[in-house]
Amino acid sequence: MEGDAYELQKEYHQRATGYIKQALECDESSSNTETAILLYKKGIRELEKAVNIYIDPSNSRAAELNAKMRKNLTMARDRVNVLQDLIRKENAIPTRAQRPTSPRRVLSPPPSALSKFQSPATATPMNHAVIKSKQAAKKELPTRSDHDSASSQSKRPALKLPNVEPQLISYILDEVIESRPNVKFDDVGGQESAKRALEEAVILPVLRPEMFTGLRAPVRGILLFGPPGNGKTMLAKAVASEAKARFFNISASSLTSKYVGEGEKLVRALFAAARELQPSIIFIDEVDSLLTERKESEHDAMRRLKTEFLIQFDGVQTNSDDRILVLAATNRPFELDDAALRRFPRRIYIQLPDSRTRRHLLKHLLNKQEHNLTSADFDWIAQETHGYSGSDLTSLAKDAAMGPVRELRVDELKQLSVSRIRPVSRPDFAQALRKIRASVTTSTLDKYIQWNRTFGDCSS
Ligand code: ATP
Ligand code: MG
Repeated sequence: MEGDAYELQKEYHQRATGYIKQALECDESSSNTETAILLYKKGIRELEKAVNIYIDPSNSRAAELNAKMRKNLTMARDRVNVLQDLIRKENAIPTRAQRPTSPRRVLSPPPSALSKFQSPATATPMNHAVIKSKQAAKKELPTRSDHDSASSQSKRPALKLPNVEPQLISYILDEVIESRPNVKFDDVGGQESAKRALEEAVILPVLRPEMFTGLRAPVRGILLFGPPGNGKTMLAKAVASEAKARFFNISASSLTSKYVGEGEKLVRALFAAARELQPSIIFIDEVDSLLTERKESEHDAMRRLKTEFLIQFDGVQTNSDDRILVLAATNRPFELDDAALRRFPRRIYIQLPDSRTRRHLLKHLLNKQEHNLTSADFDWIAQETHGYSGSDLTSLAKDAAMGPVRELRVDELKQLSVSRIRPVSRPDFAQALRKIRASVTTSTLDKYIQWNRTFGDCSS
């Protein structure tokens, strides 16, 4: 029975591999973005089917494949977002001549790890952090931002930087500076000590700079680390929306995927812009892909990019008048080298939610959904989800919410009014719990705990 499930999982995975390989071909040749999207989506559907198959956690091969597929799923979804965004932009930009570079040139190539999409037999662990390009190329609120839309061009900060190419300035103003994202501290469940640390280090000094001088001078580098899906990116966005500072949001993967030499220039331009428009926060998501330990095989261009980043970062640390903070996030802190760590004096562990927080998150997730869960039911789910991350809980709630719909026949589905669909109930969660499991294994968690003990911020 268990073996069957694994076989089925492999079958879906193989099908997904086929689609995604074809998608990559289209994507890489830039021949037909729409077809690439379509093929990625087909691959995504197969992967979704595969990861939803319940596999006994003691089957380590299956669990490994499952984890790998989840990463592939994230990559493929991210890539679709990037491509869809590109199409949207192409359609929305009336005068392409005005753009210093065409969108295709600014768009990062398909993630290299995705290009290595492999069949289960040959699959090897992938550095998925390198390729999470969603945050890199896609800004969540592009049209609402006060410097993005053509109609509000006047509000866009005027910026002239000596020795910086105008197209890089435009790129930074259009794609990197983020206006207040729609995330507040209150939206992030739990993580109280991280919130306090961020308030102390980021928000208060910007609001009351005169109070934070001398020994109270705020730190210039903060690292958020911890297992995937627990609110690192959310917290950074919340900082952006609550701090009255200019927020530069750039994913390390978008720097590393630039053409040779462009990443370095962009780093210089980024810091120059941050200095010019301070107080500023430079947020580097997935920083591990930029600041990993140097490897023999490392490309020269990558080495230069990393060096440039460190030089610029040092500039921020030594110039006491600059009010710039570099905030970084990673789920692979173990890969950061000493040179990188030294520059982040505060390292805040963003942990898995405890049972109280899980309960809170679940209540929050269900507050707009018809349900008949009692307080005792919430206690029970919170108890059953030990080891689940914030995003695992989201997947769980989504799966449970599908329960009432799944039991309807297609003809019923077509006719039934939404108000007549039965509320989500405890058995839906019982079902979902069988399928959606914790994505972080105990051994991985131990690695984070150990790393936190050795390198983490003791106050958090
Ligand atoms: P990664 O290491 O993979 O980048 P992350 O820690 O940055 O993960 P987020 O992107 O912040 O994780 O969270 C992923 C999703 O999970 C969020 O969009 C949200 O739906 C949910 N989530 C995770 N943690 C929390 C939390 N503490 N409060 C509310 N929602 C959360
Ligand atoms: Mg993140």
